Amino acid sequence: MKYISTRGQAPSLSFEDAMLSGLATDGGLYIPQEWPSLSQDEIAALAGLSYEDAAYRVIQPFVADTFSEPELRGILKRAYAGFRHPARVPLVQTGPNEFIAELHHGPTLAFKDVAMQLIGQMFQFVLARRGERVTIVGATSGDTGSAAIEAFKGLDAVDVVILYPHGRVSDVQRRQMTTPSEANVHAVAMDGDFDDCQARLKDMFNDADFRQQVKLAGVNSINWARVMAQVVYYFTTAVSLGAPHRKVSFTVPTGNFGDIFAGYVAKRMGLPIDRLVIATNQNDILHRTLQSGAHHKKGVEPSVSPSMDIQVSSNFERLLFELYDHEGEAVEQLMAELSTGGFTLSQGALSRLNAEFDSGSCSEAETMATIKAMYETTGEVLCPHSAVAVKVAQDQPKSATPMVALATAHAAKFPDAVAQACGIRPDLPPHMADLFEREERITRAPDDLAALKALVIEKTAR
Ligand SMILES: *Cc1c(COP(=O)(O)O)cnc(C)c1O
Repeated sequence: MKYISTRGQAPSLSFEDAMLSGLATDGGLYIPQEWPSLSQDEIAALAGLSYEDAAYRVIQPFVADTFSEPELRGILKRAYAGFRHPARVPLVQTGPNEFIAELHHGPTLAFKDVAMQLIGQMFQFVLARRGERVTIVGATSGDTGSAAIEAFKGLDAVDVVILYPHGRVSDVQRRQMTTPSEANVHAVAMDGDFDDCQARLKDMFNDADFRQQVKLAGVNSINWARVMAQVVYYFTTAVSLGAPHRKVSFTVPTGNFGDIFAGYVAKRMGLPIDRLVIATNQNDILHRTLQSGAHHKKGVEPSVSPSMDIQVSSNFERLLFELYDHEGEAVEQLMAELSTGGFTLSQGALSRLNAEFDSGSCSEAETMATIKAMYETTGEVLCPHSAVAVKVAQDQPKSATPMVALATAHAAKFPDAVAQACGIRPDLPPHMADLFEREERITRAPDDLAALKALVIEKTAR
């Protein structure tokens, strides 16, 4: 399987090289040249398999050039051993034909662990085989950074520097990033919001000399391997609800469009997904885009679901590449317009977008009311991101197709909002019970490229 850039100007790469480089040299994102497909029989045969065995069958076509069967099976086994639930991604019923897929049973209590634990093991394997080391720099709205630090801490082939927006992540998220004591991981509190962190990260990747000097690698959701890892739970969830003999719909709380794009990939691979619903908080650029075709940035409004406080949804570029028939030039043009404010989709692209996706947005008050109502009617305690998905799922027209809302974080990651909404202050699970007693290590930095580059060089010098 070869990987090509969404902007059409970078060389195509193997899975291994696409994973290690993250962003393509033309500024685009890597995407497989064609979608592998699983037959109806192959999908039916996933029923009853462990998560790891199902993951092997879904992921293998994407990585066959890089890992042998025993290598991939070993990587999957190590990746998911740290999950606290034997199903890895269990399904909970919350009403007639309404379900929640719990993606938050990994070590840092958010769905980012599902992909990050896997790519930690993949990076380690590939770098050890090559005898190389890399510097991973990531930008986070909270959950990616903690998942990356947890997945890569202590690995000797990798240094990790994570930029997070100062004062805009929850205390639990910050402490998960700042308390690991391993010398190869560094959390940097940057001035600005998440989009600023992500923009500086992109600037570093676009600086060829710096990229070479520190052997820069990326694990943000622009990394194809992250999206790929997330395709798996759409399959396992749909199969437990009767796919391929029965269609299933999903509502996905969306920020950077990585998670829901994985759902789109599952559909392209043959999984009978009926509807894919984009759920946004008050930062609703994607919802507005589906309604009008106009994709224009507004300022970010901080919300109770901070991991979705995003206006530049980086994985949307992958969907644009699909909507524009793999025309790299068209994507490049749109992204240039976005950098100065926004763009409007062509009629053809908009009607394709509307054929593939539905959308809804959820206000702050609705998020809080949903947490309360869900607790009162089912006893389930939702995090605010998961509540956004549940609310938007409930707003969809009723149908005979099961609707799965993705629960992307554990309520204990956002205890203040949850306590305010439903009066329950969720406890951290035992492996994190002492999080607030551990010592923090924080580096402060301005929103300034030169200063950030100097910091990365200083932190990774050996
Ligand atoms: C990252 C994150 C999201 C958004 O996922 P995207 O792939 O960026 O769309 C939603 N909920 C939580 C808890 C997250 O950490």
